[in-house]
Parts: sequence; structure tokens; C-alpha cells
Amino acid sequence: MNIILLGPPGAGKGTQAQRLVERFGMRQLSTGDMLRAAVKAQTAVGLQAKAVMERGELVSDEIVSALIGEELDAMGPSVGAIFDGYPRTAAQAESLDGILAARGRQLDHVIELGVDEDALVERITGRYTCATCGKGYHDTFEQPKVAGVCDKCGGTEFKRRPDDNEATVRTRMAEYRAKTAPILPLYEARDLVKQIDGMAPMDDVTGKIAAIIKG
Ligand code: ADP
Ligand code: ADP
Ligand code: ZN
Repeated sequence: MNIILLGPPGAGKGTQAQRLVERFGMRQLSTGDMLRAAVKAQTAVGLQAKAVMERGELVSDEIVSALIGEELDAMGPSVGAIFDGYPRTAAQAESLDGILAARGRQLDHVIELGVDEDALVERITGRYTCATCGKGYHDTFEQPKVAGVCDKCGGTEFKRRPDDNEATVRTRMAEYRAKTAPILPLYEARDLVKQIDGMAPMDDVTGKIAAIIKG
């Protein structure tokens, strides 16, 4: 099973990917997470990507497609892949076809999370994650059961992304509209797209995606 989660920043891709990993033992492939790791480790890729990410613009297609290929090679051939935040351009979508074919994989579903743009700024500016395990939270919509303690790992340190501010979110939404939304028709033509209401409560969204995966 290989699925793409598609939607603007804050649509819930990462949240849902984390849940699918737990539920189905699939693997989340988030180019955003990979790039943030590269920035932190100050690799050549990270040094190139840092300023672009801080502006909310897209990193080059070559860089992200190479990261995806490496990550797929590092996982077992029978483990399902959830692509989170990739592909984001038509060129990336085309690369992904080749990357999957070369590894004997094929795309099963492109799940589009539809959300009101007005809600995205609130989602993004309230977002934070556990610094230890990466579990996602929100100031209003998903707080830890015990304040200040991660539900998943018990960690007590949390972090916020430097690009999760209102100005950058506007640029990221514009990038999504201009470069990412246009890839939907390509997948629609292949009958791969399933639309889900991303404004619904998180559990409902998970249930709908799970139903699609189970067929
Ligand atoms: P993306 O990966 O698409 O950018 P996230 O999964 O990180 O989005 O979600 C952005 C923020 O919104 C997170 O803080 C998350 O807790 C919250 N969130 C995700 N899905 C929902 C939902 N269905 N309802 C309310 N808040 C949500
Ligand atoms: P979000 O979950 O809010 O949509 P991501 O974590 O997926 O954000 O991405 C953060 C930033 O990393 C993007 O704004 C962009 O600069 C860069 N990035 C992530 N994935 C890609 C990609 N597939 N192509 C180009 N840039 C990317
Ligand atoms: Zn944790």
C-alpha cells in the first residue's frame, strides 16, 4: 500500500500519518521532517534548504525527490508508504512515479484533505510537537492529557517550528495554490483521488482514511 496525503499546510497530513503508522504499521515519509533533520545536522542539503524553508518557499524538486528515494530504500519492500508533504509540484509527481516503479511499488490512493483556508492559520500558529518523539499537538485542538507531558513518550519538552508564523503561512498557502493544487487533476485522471473533509474532528478523518485503506 502506497498513499499520498495531499493538502495545504495545516490540513492534518502529519497528524493523520502518525495515526496510520500506529494503526497499520505503515511508514511516514515526510519531506518536511527529512529537511528539518538535514537543517539540524547542517548537511549540504540542510544548508541549502534552511533559508528557503524559513521563507515558506519550496525546496528544489531534485533535493526532495532524492530524499524520498533514499528513505524508500531504507525500508522493507513490504512496508506501506504514506507520503506526507510530497509530491508538491508536477515535477515531483512525475519523479515519484519513476521512484516507485523502480522499486516495484505503485500508488494506491491520493487522499486530499480539504480545509477552509481561514482555519489554517489558527491550526499552524497553535501547532507544536514533542521534542523527544515528534508527536504533534495543538494549543486548542489537541493538548496532552496531562499538561506538559507527552501522551506517547512521557517527554516534557516541546518545540515549535520557526516557519509556523502567520507571515510564512501565507506564503506557504500561496505556494500550495500555485504549485501543488495543480497536480490533483493529474491524479484525478488516473482515478486515484479520494476527497476527505479535513475540517472534521481528527478521529473522523482517521476513520475515513482507514476505511479507504482497508478497501
Ligand atoms: P500538516 O501536516 O498538514 O501541515 P498537521 O497534521 O501538523 O498538518 O496539523 C496542523 C495542526 O492542526 C496540528 O497542531 C494538529 O494538532 C491540528 N489538527 C490536525 N487535524 C485537525 C483536525 N481535524 N481538527 C483540528 N485540529 C487539527
Ligand atoms: P506543512 O506540514 O506545514 O505542510 P512541511 O513540514 O511539509 O509543512 O514542509 C515545511 C517546508 O519544507 C515547506 O514550506 C518547504 O519549504 C519544505 N518542503 C517540504 N516538503 C517539500 C517538498 N515536497 N518540496 C519542496 N519543498 C518542501
Ligand atoms: Zn513524546
